[in-house]
Amino acid sequence: MNEFLQSELTYVKGIGPKKAEILEKQLNIRCVEDLINYFPYRHDDRSEFQKIAAIREDLPSVQIKGKIMSIKEVGQGRGARLSGVFTDGEDHIELVWFQGVRFLKSVLPIGKEVVIYGKPNYYRGIPNITHPEVEELAARKIEAGLVPSYSSSELLKKRFVDTKFFKQALSHILADERFSVPEFLPADFLEKYQLIDRTLAFKQIHFPKDTQHLFLAKNRFKFEELFFLQWPIIQQKLKRDKFEKGIVFSLEKNLWEDFKKERLPFELTGAQHRVIGDIKRDVESGKQMNRLLQGDVGSGKTIVALAAVVMAFENGLQSALMAPTEILATQHFIGLSEMLEGSSIRLALLTGSTPKSERKELFRLLKMNEIHFLIGTHALIEDAVSFDNLGMVIIDEQHRFGVAQRARLQDKNTVKPHILVMTATPIPRTLAMSVYGDLDHSVIDEMPAGRKTIKTLHRYGFTRHKIWDFVKTEIEKGRQAYIVYPLIEESDTLPYRDLMNGFNDLLEYFPRPKYQVEMMHGQMKPQDKEEIMRRFKEGKIHVLVSTTVIEVGINVPNASIMIIESAEKFGLSQLHQLRGRVGRGSEQSYCILLSHKQLNENAKIRMQAMVNHSSGFELSDIDMKLRGFGDIAGTRQSGLDQLKLASLATDGEMVSLAQNALIDIFSADPDLQLPKYEKLKNHWKKISGNKEWSTVA
Ligand code: ADP
Ligand code: MG
Repeated sequence: MNEFLQSELTYVKGIGPKKAEILEKQLNIRCVEDLINYFPYRHDDRSEFQKIAAIREDLPSVQIKGKIMSIKEVGQGRGARLSGVFTDGEDHIELVWFQGVRFLKSVLPIGKEVVIYGKPNYYRGIPNITHPEVEELAARKIEAGLVPSYSSSELLKKRFVDTKFFKQALSHILADERFSVPEFLPADFLEKYQLIDRTLAFKQIHFPKDTQHLFLAKNRFKFEELFFLQWPIIQQKLKRDKFEKGIVFSLEKNLWEDFKKERLPFELTGAQHRVIGDIKRDVESGKQMNRLLQGDVGSGKTIVALAAVVMAFENGLQSALMAPTEILATQHFIGLSEMLEGSSIRLALLTGSTPKSERKELFRLLKMNEIHFLIGTHALIEDAVSFDNLGMVIIDEQHRFGVAQRARLQDKNTVKPHILVMTATPIPRTLAMSVYGDLDHSVIDEMPAGRKTIKTLHRYGFTRHKIWDFVKTEIEKGRQAYIVYPLIEESDTLPYRDLMNGFNDLLEYFPRPKYQVEMMHGQMKPQDKEEIMRRFKEGKIHVLVSTTVIEVGINVPNASIMIIESAEKFGLSQLHQLRGRVGRGSEQSYCILLSHKQLNENAKIRMQAMVNHSSGFELSDIDMKLRGFGDIAGTRQSGLDQLKLASLATDGEMVSLAQNALIDIFSADPDLQLPKYEKLKNHWKKISGNKEWSTVA
């Protein structure tokens, strides 16, 4: 243990007990090591000067050489301030101080050559610089290279814990001859991945010699973050690949090939073909398949799942398909029953509303392998559900389920069944790699032939009657429409349109019996929802007015219009999911986003993104840039909130690099027994909370 790093803050020149106390209270900084880990949020090149004419609002700071020509006190009370006129010889700008007026009046060097430094502000379109740093040019200590800025709160600033303070304290620490940070990565590793060592990295992250050194220092820390983020996932994956025996399928009869020829009304897309190939290889390999299948809404994931079921059936094994909602499970059951009609694969549906009497018989048949394919909701993981020999587990819309539920389903067999998880929520590649890094990935990146891009429009809510007229003309042509509301009932607190009022208006506008308008929402009984869905599918309902219960997976190819009320209420991935309910047939489809006229920046960007992009992957990248990873499903407890420097949005290459490094290490030395990994192992123990290191994963 390095004693210097563990020293208390009061040992550092310039830090007394009071500052030490506030640093601990406010920033959880207790010792030298904590302080060096408080990274600057920005660096400025203080060797460069700007001209007043070049000032723009978005500049974080400017540094200008010139003279303060005059100062005067202006304003009263809270608006009282000291105002100065500064010139760079060509233009003028106002300098403003609200505090320390009397003191400043006596010390500001009027008429002398000075350097001012600060952030430009705009007041009524005119720039000024508030509370600039002012230094006489003659007395200026040139700060070499890039100068760091540190964030601190108002409270901290009051106690003089500000950028200046951090700069001083850290320069003392980093210049101390005892300063050195233990390296835990082996030398050959540093070389291979072109990383600078830790001591240098800490020095350069605070006071970089130049931009190149700053880049190298950031790289080193980003690498560390992404390396440890992925550590448990990769370790687990490699162990599983090595030790988990999978059921070996024999596919010599190639039942799927026959099935395809005899039963599929269409050709598979190249992407579907490729993914089915991935699955085939997995199930023949002797390893347990753990595959994530990503494919945009409507890309045809269900067929891929069916191929996996047929492969299991060929080997006398049962399959289970779990979906997040009853509607979706039922739809899968109906659709797959049609496709399997007359084949020898027998399937059944199990949901929360399957009556007790039916369950008993169902469980009996399941136990005897007379049901080959069980489709259902969470009900599948109940203890009572017991298979004869479960060989294939498919989880639809993976993000709605937790890892624990996946595990419970796979534990229903002594030898772990193969697992295919499917999601239409496009996960940015980097996120998929790091959060679902324990799964192999397949992507369907091609839509079935003949699909037209959905035309997406953004309109203000008050134009809704025009939109409804358009719906009428489409109904004339035989089409159907969805209208989605964010709320069921009117809310006093939320400024959004609601289903109940909307439905009444629609009934008036679309009078029966000429038009059939029905509503559906989550608080209705499952049988009633099913009944509505069935009639909508049969074309007996023209307009389905609904909440987001129709979000996931619903497939009615004849529906070609999706209208989303108060679209600003929804996030991008949800809007994209909803839009995916249309565009499933060969007709031109439309998605119309109705919103309030006053929209905040974020909502404007979302509406624009929907209008301009049809790919879920592109949208997910935009989404990620808008709001980070915080809300994206599956990212909680993943440690992503611990990323200080690395960003999954922009550091994709680094994610792969760190992953490759982990694979290198763990495949050669799964338990890190080589002496050169001793320090690395200890470091992991320390940062992962001192748990027995091998059980962390
Ligand atoms: P998702 O990926 O959203 O689950 P589905 O599996 O529900 O998509 O498929 C959407 C629709 O596309 C279904 O009607 C399905 O029958 C159809 N489909 C799937 N694959 C093809 C294909 N290769 N060619 C034409 N239609 C297809
Ligand atoms: Mg689906």
